[in-house]
Amino acid sequence: TLDQMFDLTVKKNVNKEALVDLTKNKRLSFGEWQQEVNQLANALRAAGVEKGDRVSTFMFNTHELGTTLFACSRIGAIFNPINFRLEPKEVDFILKDAEPKVVIFEKVLEPVVASIQENHPEVSFWFIDSQPPAYAVNYHERVQQAPKVKPDIEVSEDDDYAIMYTSGTTGRPKGVVHRHRDMVEQSLGTIAQLGLSQHDRGLVTAPMFHCAELHCCFLPRVHVGSTNVIMHHFDPKQVLANIEEEKISCFFAAPTMWNMLLQEDLSQYNLESLKVGLYGAAPMAPALVSACKDKLGIDLVQAYGMTEMGPAITFLDKEEQLSKAGSAGRACFNHEVRVVKTSESGLSDAEDIAEPGEVGEIIVRGPSMMREYFKRPEATAEVLRDGWYFSGDLGFMDEEQYLFVADRVRDMVISGGENIYPREVEDLLHAHPGVLDVAVLGEPHEFWGESVVAVVVKKDESVTDKELDDYCKASEDLSNYKRPRRYVFVDELPRNASGKIQKFLLREQFKAGSMS
Ligand code: AMP
Ligand code: MG
Repeated sequence: TLDQMFDLTVKKNVNKEALVDLTKNKRLSFGEWQQEVNQLANALRAAGVEKGDRVSTFMFNTHELGTTLFACSRIGAIFNPINFRLEPKEVDFILKDAEPKVVIFEKVLEPVVASIQENHPEVSFWFIDSQPPAYAVNYHERVQQAPKVKPDIEVSEDDDYAIMYTSGTTGRPKGVVHRHRDMVEQSLGTIAQLGLSQHDRGLVTAPMFHCAELHCCFLPRVHVGSTNVIMHHFDPKQVLANIEEEKISCFFAAPTMWNMLLQEDLSQYNLESLKVGLYGAAPMAPALVSACKDKLGIDLVQAYGMTEMGPAITFLDKEEQLSKAGSAGRACFNHEVRVVKTSESGLSDAEDIAEPGEVGEIIVRGPSMMREYFKRPEATAEVLRDGWYFSGDLGFMDEEQYLFVADRVRDMVISGGENIYPREVEDLLHAHPGVLDVAVLGEPHEFWGESVVAVVVKKDESVTDKELDDYCKASEDLSNYKRPRRYVFVDELPRNASGKIQKFLLREQFKAGSMS
């Protein structure tokens, strides 16, 4: 269980720095952290939290989020970290669905909680800052008053550890249920693939409520006894200053975040401590990976996966970033990946394996696969079939079992009967010096069915659609039918918290006519 993993780490590293919460200027050794975990676990028990009950967090990145994770796992409660970017009605939905006994939240999100708390009279709201509102109690008072002894609750590796609501680039969130064993396996995979050890110091910059940061960075670092330095939220200048000050060796960032770091004046910072970075959640243009190596001095490793798998499934090693550019790598040693032929019914068959190079649906299996979608047997049955998780992602495998992720099934553009994978066009446009960010999608076309449109954020104000069109025409890598027929310039692309472009929002804006 995660609890056993935690205790083993603490035993070896009692006096070592475990957590640094930069916002609160708080530094905790593993021994001190364990004591807080015990106290919170006891406080939750005293508030009536039983094994199997849910405890939600609604906060940015804080040490309290990490403490809640391990306190829950100590008493068999189910940890439910909620996305801090959600609107009140979405948070309301999750609380109705997950039915937590306790919600732990912070001051900056108080207005959101205030607007919905009346709908949840059963919930006990715990406030991590001073002066809680009338409907909430003081988290730190509760913790300080609780006993320091480890509560004696039996938890097994097959018990549920967490419910994480998927970021939903496609609609209403579903609660992904993971067991303890899932996360121990997930953590082992990342430790091996990134070569993490006790000597690392990691920066937590991406949202901790999301499994990419939480399970591929935060947990593995606890597992090996290294230090987690927590930033409240991502801020490029602050990230660079923190790398220098805290001698950071590794961190995760979504592609846009890496891009933002590169826009800063890097000569101002000493970044020598950096070793390895992780990216994922979305593809990253090869040009950007190389720029990170040249300018930040960091080797990047890519992970591909999804909340349902804990998330990471495949890894592209640092040595392969250029030789296998565009690929998401090969399956991690404890997981398996297949590409199967898509079917008209929408339900592909796990045994109908696609040829190398042939685009089909990506399916995966391994020990970190979710148990189910909470309270959604039908949705679960649709994606968990014959021991595999059917991802809804399109991609292909090359002869050497390297996976190439094309797009979401529904993001593919079909123009004149030809399939166009937006990512290919996006990669090309990303490499243009005048382009900061880009999303490619299809828009309805009378004759072709759909035609390709590129929504672009300029890096260089003077860049024009004519120039980008000439650039695409001149490229030997892009067939004519894939070339964008229209460019729309915007200030920013809609992205969800893990950095993925929300194409359904762009499509809605096209439909509503606000994107001409
Ligand atoms: P989430 O459940 O929020 O982690 O989102 C998972 C989805 O993100 C996957 O189904 C993919 O569509 C996408 N994704 C994750 N990692 C990658 C990657 N390395 N390359 C391309 N798409 C990715
Ligand atoms: Mg998903």
